[in-house]
Amino acid sequence: MGALATAIRLANAGYGVKILEKNNYPGGKLCNLELNNFRFDKGPSLFTLPNLVDDLLKLSPKKIDFEYKKLDVLTHYFFEDGTVVKSFSETKKFATELQLKLNEDPITIEKHLEQSKFFYETTAPIFLEKSLHKLKNFFNLSTIKGILNSYKLQLFTTMHQANSKKFKNKKTIQLFNRYATYNGSNPYKAPALLNIIPHLEFNLGAYIPKNGMIDITNKLVECAANLGVEFLFNCEVHHIELENDSVRYLKTASGDYPADIIVSDADMHLVYNKLLEKKYTPKKLLAQEKSSSAFIFYWGMQKQFAELDLHNIFFSENYEQEFTDLFNSNKPYHDPTIYVNISSKYCKNDAPQGCENWFVMVNAPHNKSQKEINYKEELKKNVIAKLNRILKVDLNDLIVCEEILDPYGIEIQTGSFGGSLYGNSSNNKFSAFLRHANYSSKIKGLYFAGGSVHPGGGIPLSLLSGKIVSELIVNDN
Ligand SMILES: Cc1cc2nc3c(=O)[nH]c(=O)nc-3n(C[C@H](O)[C@H](O)[C@H](O)COP(=O)(O)OP(=O)(O)OC[C@H]3O[C@@H](n4cnc5c(N)ncnc54)[C@H](O)[C@@H]3O)c2cc1C
Repeated sequence: MGALATAIRLANAGYGVKILEKNNYPGGKLCNLELNNFRFDKGPSLFTLPNLVDDLLKLSPKKIDFEYKKLDVLTHYFFEDGTVVKSFSETKKFATELQLKLNEDPITIEKHLEQSKFFYETTAPIFLEKSLHKLKNFFNLSTIKGILNSYKLQLFTTMHQANSKKFKNKKTIQLFNRYATYNGSNPYKAPALLNIIPHLEFNLGAYIPKNGMIDITNKLVECAANLGVEFLFNCEVHHIELENDSVRYLKTASGDYPADIIVSDADMHLVYNKLLEKKYTPKKLLAQEKSSSAFIFYWGMQKQFAELDLHNIFFSENYEQEFTDLFNSNKPYHDPTIYVNISSKYCKNDAPQGCENWFVMVNAPHNKSQKEINYKEELKKNVIAKLNRILKVDLNDLIVCEEILDPYGIEIQTGSFGGSLYGNSSNNKFSAFLRHANYSSKIKGLYFAGGSVHPGGGIPLSLLSGKIVSELIVNDN
């Protein structure tokens, strides 16, 4: 996402751009999986801030149609005691649902979402849309307003502390704490400012592209190609060659590619550990805690489930312990929260008639050892047992095909260190400032985009990194 956004913007500004991609397909984490007659989005499934994609597609010299639908129901939440809660995108409807099901005061819910909006509007112009590492960006009205309001941003309270003060029911607290996982963080450690995230879903909306998430990649690739960006697949970069601390060319098995400017969209660890000489390594920055990874089962299911929707969550009973394990042990909690995404609910061609394509994801620790994962069977047993218990079925009889992607596989396929999904975690109040800048202060001509650098992981922020980098490049050159 970071690379495509950067390439589109730079090509539009008149630069000659080549994308060197080690895989034989584009999109990185946002790619496709075809299994028997089922299609899956292999990585991201939640689409927010679609305007960021629209803004890029508008730069195409030929019109590109990109259709997406706003979701009325964001998520179906299932609890072990049989409680089911639907999160409606419309605030009042959602507040009424929480009043009926969890005895929450609807005014508290509405106020929480208003606060989320305030957090977003105060911080987005400072933290998300500009380089945090250029002093001049701090001298403007929105930044000064943000700094004056910073005492309201709850930087010294954790997300969990803030949520437990507001809500009566521990299920509501769990539901809102879950938003920390949207950037791979721990709600019991991350600052309450992460309560910014519900604003994206509730106030701004969650969407599904007409042809599934893969449509985002496909349309951005089409746009880049229309602007003259050249794609080289199966083209792994082995080294970034420098001369007098300035970039010169990229070394690959198929030859050298000279460049005046190089933008890396690969994980920071990979760039510093494999592509550059050791003397450039920012050791403190690389030593920071990583965001969580994921373990995914892709199941072709020979049944349709009326009680399920596009996004479904089956909560663990002990959320705090789940996060303690996620960040302190090397395998997921034995009773993990399970996310089931079923794109065939909206994209009918994704599964044969009467069937569904289940993307079943559990948050998993990032794979520090970078070795193969050894808990697959145990995790699968726990996941199936939990889903069977809550849905009152036997999934073993219904799964007709399966593929698995684990933290090790995520690292092999995309280069993310230990398979972490969003670069560094945001478990620290200073984490926004501790992300790598979008440029190298030591190497002239080297820039960075993507989820492991500023402003962060996830599709929207990776796309914004492309905007920040391309603006830096145009200004610097
Ligand atoms: C399972 C999963 C679920 C997710 N869910 C969501 C979600 O619901 N919503 C959301 O917004 N985000 C989600 N994310 C996160 C989101 O996918 C990422 O933050 C975003 O796609 C990262 O984009 P990126 O620009 O960092 O590049 P990446 O997708 O990491 O791509 C990097 C690219 O660089 C290539 N590369 C690496 N090294 C080299 C090399 N040496 N030479 C050449 N090429 C190289 C890789 O092959 C890859 O194509 C999810 C991620 C995963 C894996």
